[in-house]
Amino acid sequence: MARGILFVLSGPSGVGKGTILDRLMDDYNGINYSISVTTRKPRKDEKDGIDYFFVSIEKFQEMKKENQFLETACVHGNYYGTPQKYVEQCLSKGEDIILEIDIQGAKQIKEKFKDAVYIFLLPPNNKELKNRLEKRNSETEESLKRRLKNADQEISEVNNYDYRIVNDQIEKTVHAIKEVIKKERSLRKE
Ligand code: 5GP
Repeated sequence: MARGILFVLSGPSGVGKGTILDRLMDDYNGINYSISVTTRKPRKDEKDGIDYFFVSIEKFQEMKKENQFLETACVHGNYYGTPQKYVEQCLSKGEDIILEIDIQGAKQIKEKFKDAVYIFLLPPNNKELKNRLEKRNSETEESLKRRLKNADQEISEVNNYDYRIVNDQIEKTVHAIKEVIKKERSLRKE
């Protein structure tokens, strides 16, 4: 049986990755989502085991030592990692899976998976990114500043991705990602 396709989605904080993925998962069966492990504290509306697996730094380090992660990174001051087992299970069953990870994680995945598909979400402009982050009201002043500061560095990696999508309208972006998935599936059938 052919292995599933690994999709990697990156983009700066506030670009709308979460909203887009929620939408994609809601109305697009046939693709799995990898829930990451993080040492970040949950936000008001986040649930353990749904948005992330929230763990202590000690637990994260223990998991890392036990080689439970496909990749890990320290992003905006917190640790994040992709659990290896679930991704491998999906791919070997022939099921596609999408990871929402930062640029450091994407680089590690590139070394391990030669045929993964990399998608980068861009904001329409920097001002809009700042507006969205502020409106989300999920960050402390310090975290907001750090996320905006890191945005330029993340965006500078855009050329290492196979597909670049400007998220100026949710429906349009979801449609564009579905088209990427469709195209990649058909390419592999050839
Ligand atoms: P947030 O704290 O806003 O949920 O996520 C912050 C950043 O961490 C985002 O850029 C997100 O893509 C990234 N991220 C989330 N999970 C992972 C992961 O498992 N690995 C890596 N490398 N980055 C992640």
